[in-house]
Amino acid sequence: MTDPDVALIVVAAGSSTRFGTDKLGVQIAGRSVLERAVTAVRAPFPDAPLVLVVRGDQVEQARARWEGLGVLVTAGGEHRQDSVKHGFTALNPGDDTVVLIHDGARPFVPREDVVRVTAAAAETGAALLVAPVVETVKRLRADGTVESTVPREKLARALTPQAFRAGVLRSAWEAAGDTFWTDEAALVERQGGTVVAVPGDSRNVKVTHPDDLALVAGVIPKRTRVGQGIDVHPFAADRPLWLCGIQLPGETGLAGHSDADAGLHAVTDAILGACGCGDIGEHFPPSEDRWRDAPSELFVRHALSLAAGRGWRVAGCDLTLIADFPRIAPHRGAMRARVAELLGLAPDDVNIKATTCEGMGFVGRKEGVVAFALVTLEPSANP
Ligand code: MG
Repeated sequence: MTDPDVALIVVAAGSSTRFGTDKLGVQIAGRSVLERAVTAVRAPFPDAPLVLVVRGDQVEQARARWEGLGVLVTAGGEHRQDSVKHGFTALNPGDDTVVLIHDGARPFVPREDVVRVTAAAAETGAALLVAPVVETVKRLRADGTVESTVPREKLARALTPQAFRAGVLRSAWEAAGDTFWTDEAALVERQGGTVVAVPGDSRNVKVTHPDDLALVAGVIPKRTRVGQGIDVHPFAADRPLWLCGIQLPGETGLAGHSDADAGLHAVTDAILGACGCGDIGEHFPPSEDRWRDAPSELFVRHALSLAAGRGWRVAGCDLTLIADFPRIAPHRGAMRARVAELLGLAPDDVNIKATTCEGMGFVGRKEGVVAFALVTLEPSANP
């Protein structure tokens, strides 16, 4: 079978009364619910005409936002069924075109589900995505007591998109006249038409209550960034030894312009690397006198603020010190606590490892230490 002509209607004209605010504008990991819904349903058919149906008072704003992306915008009607009709009229599809009707509050329909419901409608005239009812279902009396348990084997939850040959919708609308229906599948059912139920992904949820946002946040693949930082410093007499934000009393220190804390320098570079902000030498040139003997926690704090400015926060840090001198093990706990404190993390989210060079090379000759840090960033705004 050749691919059918497809046209898309995204319905976003509801009043969000159950949400208390404009739920479709709510951001989930940097993109609005509506933006995600449009992108998801459009994914398999990027060139198909798409109309977005919004409330009359939002048409102008929506046009400014969407028309540059090839999306038609039209005003909805009093009820959802009127809004779908308005969208259909704006598209005016040929009778064989498969029209997908998608709810603007469903941001997570998988591409494969859209393809399968489209194919089913192309073949039979009408199809919708469904998900199984997993909970036991009770029929209640008006007084809140249970009247009976409803067998759920033949029950399914209606998802969107629903898909219809345009000619099927036209005939159903004509026959139904001015009656009400909950969705277009119900409309076609009532006219005696067959609607194929296509099993869909249960994560294709409708964002209805504010609490739903916490649930759907788990559906989003988490964005993370990883950065690495490497630093090397030689030892120098008559300097205090700073490593990973703590001073190791009585030990030979490291040479450097600042306090020469190679551990924190590596962490700083890893943060800068993860958020695309260059390296420590760019931000704190050794040529500048104000950084002489400066505590390196300043560098970490600056890198954190640059990352925050770009919408990131640190999620974890793994730091390896390569040193034949001093012994790291006795100080590991204190280093871990200090680095965690600086990064705003729990100690469990930071790890300090140490290894030696078994006497080989400059590390083995106890001429200097190497620090190697990996830092993971996550978006600072949740969900
Ligand atoms: Mg350094």
